[in-house]
Amino acid sequence: MNCDNMKQLLISYHNNEVDPGEPDAIKAHLETCPDCQLEHRSIIDVQSKFKQVLSTTAELVSPPPDAWLAIQGRLDPNRNRFAGLTERIARATRNFLDTPVWQKRLVGSLTALTTLALVATVIL
Ligand SMILES: [Zn+2]
Repeated sequence: MNCDNMKQLLISYHNNEVDPGEPDAIKAHLETCPDCQLEHRSIIDVQSKFKQVLSTTAELVSPPPDAWLAIQGRLDPNRNRFAGLTERIARATRNFLDTPVWQKRLVGSLTALTTLALVATVIL
């Protein structure tokens, strides 16, 4: 393993996100390479400071008392305006397919006439 590979893997290694077998090769390289040891120490230092800032900031911030209720309301599937849309489209399609051909042609003709009337209204 060379230093370029190491620098790409060090953050993942620090977060225990490397593939099995890689930690041994990474440890072996770290034991012998001062540049990568320095890089690894700087990653540890930055992440430690980042965690410290996050925990300090989290202690200072508190959500409004009704925050959880607002989140729950947004997660409620009954509030989803698209809930059941697929079923409604399927039902409308089934109803349309079950109608006699003359009715489909009538609906098609009326739709075309309405579209033409709207276009003519906009153009004229
Ligand atoms: Zn190295």
